[in-house]
Amino acid sequence: MSDSKDACARPSLTPVDDALAQILAATAPVTESETVPIEASYGRVLAAAVISPVNVPPQDNSAMDGYAVCEAGESEYALVGEAFAGHPYTGEVVAGQCVRIMTGAPVPEGATTVVMQENASVAESQSGKLVSFSQTLKTGDNIRRAGEDIRTGSEVLPAGRRLTPADCGLLASIGIPTVEVLRPIRVALLTTGDELVAPGQALEDGQIYESNSFVLRPILQRLGAEITVLTAVEDNTDTIKAELASAADSHDVIITSGGVSVGEADYTRIAVEALGQLDLWKMAMKPGKPLAFGRIGDCLFLGLPGNPVSSLVTLHQVGLPMLRTLAGESVSPPLRIPSIAAESLRKRPGRTDYQRGIATLNTGGQLEVRSTGQQGSGILSSVSRANCFIVLEQDRGRVEAGETVMVELFDQWLC
Ligand code: AMP
Ligand code: MG
Repeated sequence: MSDSKDACARPSLTPVDDALAQILAATAPVTESETVPIEASYGRVLAAAVISPVNVPPQDNSAMDGYAVCEAGESEYALVGEAFAGHPYTGEVVAGQCVRIMTGAPVPEGATTVVMQENASVAESQSGKLVSFSQTLKTGDNIRRAGEDIRTGSEVLPAGRRLTPADCGLLASIGIPTVEVLRPIRVALLTTGDELVAPGQALEDGQIYESNSFVLRPILQRLGAEITVLTAVEDNTDTIKAELASAADSHDVIITSGGVSVGEADYTRIAVEALGQLDLWKMAMKPGKPLAFGRIGDCLFLGLPGNPVSSLVTLHQVGLPMLRTLAGESVSPPLRIPSIAAESLRKRPGRTDYQRGIATLNTGGQLEVRSTGQQGSGILSSVSRANCFIVLEQDRGRVEAGETVMVELFDQWLC
């Protein structure tokens, strides 16, 4: 569709944020949970907040290799023992005494400070070893306090958290061997179109290779979803209806690509309208204008546009927040960073553009961005070459070099 036509259609375009808000309001998170060992918990979503049963660290311990000292204003301290990680000094240190201590070893009772070994010298005397220090002693130095990372009874991680590697480490550090997570969401992915052929086959006249499922499936895999993929479903209302009805029985959500505009061959839209309910938006978004959302029975339905870049961008910007919400995850809006446009960018007011860009730091250390080139919704190489979206506001027109634009670096779902 030409840009001038877009401008005419502008009053009926739904802003992306409005469509997203409606979709999220209609998406109820899964509630069934399961217990998994923490080594299998990476990427899963916490079913409940995790409360620590212990202090981390459990005891005051040394942050340095050095000497744990009971300060007494002396110039020399009697060395009375050793403390290693896993092998504490069990006695009490009294004023004027010190203990050789290693990083991570519990600070012995009575010690008030730790001095790093580089600032200590040891001399022999008749009564044993004496240690003197080249720095003024300061109470509490180099001691990692019990509970300074996590306190007993405090919330370590909230419900709805998708666990990161550091989170898995936190769970281990509080001694929890298993954790309660929400079950994976079950997603059916259908791509439709009579022109679509699987890679590996010869193309006949008018055919193209089906590529959308190869873009969408890895994103769904990254989500930890249980996925059923059906590619190149024929453009026929009865066939699509049968596939949708059967998928709806055994999945939480059906995602389709193609066939959701209002053209004559838009059978997906017709099939969902017959089986369930559907909202169809012309979103004020480029690429990706048509987007459908609805349900067939208890199963949610998300209809993405067929154009390869459009299906990817709509899944990323709208589909992912919805799927993550369905999976029980607490989702925050994406981080967008101001950047300098290194070149002019074509843009007409009317829709929010998600242009594909390459962001780099310039010689002055500032973030700058340029376009990957042709921005057509069929040009998938524009995404492959990019490392960010240049998000240009709905009402904005052409951008001149040097203007500030907002950049959304590709996140883990696109890398
Ligand atoms: P549609 O939304 O079905 O009208 O499709 C819009 C455009 O995207 C057409 O040029 C289709 O050939 C193309 N297309 C649709 N589905 C796919 C797919 N799964 N892989 C590659 N191209 C597709
Ligand atoms: Mg089609």
